[in-house]
Amino acid sequence: MKKGQEYVLEIVETEFPGYGVAYYEDNKVLIKGALPGEKVLARVTKKKTKVEAKTVEVLEEVDYKIEAPCPVFDICGGCTHQFIDYEKQLELKEQQVLKLLKDAGIDGFEYEGIISSPKVFEYRNKMEFTFGDYEKGGELELGLHTPVKRNAIVSTTTCLLIDKDFRSILKTTLDYFRSKNIPHYNLMKHEGYLRHLVIRKAQKTGEILINIVTTSQMEFNLEEYKSLLTNITYDGVLTGIIHTVNDNLSDTVKADKVEILYGRDYIIEELMGLKFKISPYSFFQTNTLGAEKLYSCVRDFMSDADNKVVFDLYCGTGTIGQIVASNAKKVIGVELIEEAVHAANNNAKFNGLDNCTFIAGDVKEIIKTINEKPDIIILDPPRPGVSPEALKYVIDFNPNEIIYVSCNPKTLVENLKQLKESGYVIKKLKAVDMFPHTPHVECVALIERE
Ligand code: SAH
Repeated sequence: MKKGQEYVLEIVETEFPGYGVAYYEDNKVLIKGALPGEKVLARVTKKKTKVEAKTVEVLEEVDYKIEAPCPVFDICGGCTHQFIDYEKQLELKEQQVLKLLKDAGIDGFEYEGIISSPKVFEYRNKMEFTFGDYEKGGELELGLHTPVKRNAIVSTTTCLLIDKDFRSILKTTLDYFRSKNIPHYNLMKHEGYLRHLVIRKAQKTGEILINIVTTSQMEFNLEEYKSLLTNITYDGVLTGIIHTVNDNLSDTVKADKVEILYGRDYIIEELMGLKFKISPYSFFQTNTLGAEKLYSCVRDFMSDADNKVVFDLYCGTGTIGQIVASNAKKVIGVELIEEAVHAANNNAKFNGLDNCTFIAGDVKEIIKTINEKPDIIILDPPRPGVSPEALKYVIDFNPNEIIYVSCNPKTLVENLKQLKESGYVIKKLKAVDMFPHTPHVECVALIERE
């Protein structure tokens, strides 16, 4: 196969995250977004370790394609799978996870299927939007990055992953700053004022926190904006508006200074009967109802923990640790972000749990200093997985049981290989769809000492 040349390919299977796979002579070809059963004309774009191609034209369609309900689906980078029937989305994610495990030689476990998201639309409790423009120098936009144009933003005031309250805030914000002609921050020139709008809305309590993020390059009075937001009629309840100043050069939401414009700087969410205080910069699962499914699975997989010591590594605000705490002698959590650990300890007090301790720091450093022998270790790392070094310490503790919650099946498989080599067996696996219409999938695995 030659780079730049076009080929007719039949997609025979799917590979994580969201690739269609075709075979051409001796080559395996990966085509982003192509679907099993399709026949496509595709141009080879890469030919290094893997052959990758891009669809030029779909020659034979599949019958499970549907019309994407979102009006900006074609240009927005938020959802990539909205044009696939939801049941089929689940089936494809399931196939991708099982293929990764099979290819890595991991078998002999009980596969418990994929759980669907309780809400297929309007499931997110947090969304981060960026200010920018779609046409260079054009009208102000507020939404998500588009994959079709470099540095361009698509306004997402009709987004279906969030509910009506989010959409009202988004539209009010965009209309207001357009009317005032306020410039967005330009990433290349490092000039401008408006950067991000982060909205959090707790699905159980309805509490809403709005965070407007700007640079310090303008003295702009936000009083008028604040009163517009407090005058919206919400289904939920607006409990806080904050203004974050961020002069950082990179395009991430960071805080140099945070000012409370209205109410308080956190929301309370409920999960499985417990309450959690979520501060603006702490990690919290973005699909509350989906998280309940995920954490229930952790609880189901965990053996009777009476009188046992449980480690909750990569604990965020301590959600999983607290959910299993009522059955445990002691829970010790470790998390990198100090603010999240502070929230975790407060949340445990709030929930009347006196057997939980959360420690701030890097898992691979902190784990060396804990003088307790865990019976059960829960791992819930970010997408890069557990580093081989940190996993070595986990194995050295020699726990009978490990429960691994994964947001990236690729790194899960890598970690499972290391665990397998060290005398652990994977007993059970379940997938949970926390992110409908995107290629992401969560998995929970029960791993035991052989
Ligand atoms: N278990 C939590 C959070 C999971 S997300 C929940 O379910 O809500 C992964 C978490 O790992 C994030 O909070 C992130 O800040 C943290 N993290 C990332 N790298 C880390 C490291 N090296 N050591 C400790 N925590 C880390």
